[in-house]
Amino acid sequence: MNTFPDHRTLYRLPWSLPDNPIAWLEPTAACNIYCEGCYRANVKDGHKPLEQIREELRVFARYRNFDGVSIAGGDPLVHPDVVRIAEMVTEMGYKPIVNTNGVALTDDLLRELKRAGVKGFTFHIDSKQGRPGWSGRNEVELNELRLEFAERLARVGGISCAFNSTVYQDTLPYAPDILEWAQRHIDKVHVVVFIAYRQASGDVTDTVDFFVGDRRISMDDLVYSRPTGEQRLDISSRDVVAEIRKRFPDFSPCAYLNGTEKADSLKWLLTTRMGTRAGIDGYVGRRFAELAQVYHHFRHGRFMAYVPPALLRAGRAVSSITWPFDAGARRILGRWLLRTLTRPWHLFRRVHIQSVMIIQPADIMPNGQMNMCDACPDITVHAGELVWSCRLEEKLKYGDFVRGVRKQVVEAAAAAPEAGLPDP
Ligand code: SF4
Repeated sequence: MNTFPDHRTLYRLPWSLPDNPIAWLEPTAACNIYCEGCYRANVKDGHKPLEQIREELRVFARYRNFDGVSIAGGDPLVHPDVVRIAEMVTEMGYKPIVNTNGVALTDDLLRELKRAGVKGFTFHIDSKQGRPGWSGRNEVELNELRLEFAERLARVGGISCAFNSTVYQDTLPYAPDILEWAQRHIDKVHVVVFIAYRQASGDVTDTVDFFVGDRRISMDDLVYSRPTGEQRLDISSRDVVAEIRKRFPDFSPCAYLNGTEKADSLKWLLTTRMGTRAGIDGYVGRRFAELAQVYHHFRHGRFMAYVPPALLRAGRAVSSITWPFDAGARRILGRWLLRTLTRPWHLFRRVHIQSVMIIQPADIMPNGQMNMCDACPDITVHAGELVWSCRLEEKLKYGDFVRGVRKQVVEAAAAAPEAGLPDP
């Protein structure tokens, strides 16, 4: 079994339900393309009115201390009032971050969103999307499209640029290619996110039945229960790390979020590296991650969402300040000094900071338990409450979350109906 990295050697991110860098706002359920790994049903004209969006922001503010609002969906750029939504987020004192496939992003809209205070974009681009003009392209070929977006953001300036892609069994081998490309453009690409593919189908449905309260339901009625062919549904963060380390053996995560049911599952796994367009100098360690989180919270009263590009360009200064505390920062600074001694012109090259986040979404365990991300950052609002955005469809369809119960337990309960099903 793949055991690297050991979670006990990493920093456990200090995020919690009420204190977390981000909140996840879904102003629309409509989308202009199809993505195989999407958790949400595409609802034509499924836009929420501005008053409802304002109320959802108030719910976040009531329950959670946060820094940034991921404006997601659906695709938020198809909402006719997306600029006003970004303004509302800014007016409430938060950073708007747009999570989009990018298809509807014109240069005019990009400038308007920047004026509205948008601090970051996360572009979802992968090879299992029905993206006009790009069908049939693999992950390496899609780097051309990624670069196009990164350059457009760089021209506008001051906006953080992130790319996420769903990782399937047959696209996992491309993860190192995406990272190699991101390193060559480390001056424009600030974050890379890999999200392991999940569906509520496959082998687990042979051993587990699903219920809402005491009512049995069929997972087939949910949008994230599509037939998956031969694709694996259990790719873990460690599998992604192992694939990356085949090409980059020193790739080393520094921090994580555990699972709600399994302490050692790496639901959000953070790696932070520093370098130039010519190469990576190294990876920061757990102490650096701890310093960054605690310092920002101490200074600003919040955990930081989306670091401004100006700070990400200051890798040399950051490693110069943090080296006494962190072995990774020491190695980075040492390599930079060595390089500068042999090639003095490196003194004038910027050292950039780039993060890689690997997300291992909900796992349905053989006993029916759902192993979710502890301190879920992507929590959203439904009916005035905070709920997991990856399972919102359950709330919408059944009014509550689905629970899994082992088939033997269901059979035992059927044999003794007076006892009923055990409580969740
Ligand atoms: S629990 Fe679901 S919504 Fe929350 S962070 Fe994990 S995958 Fe995202």
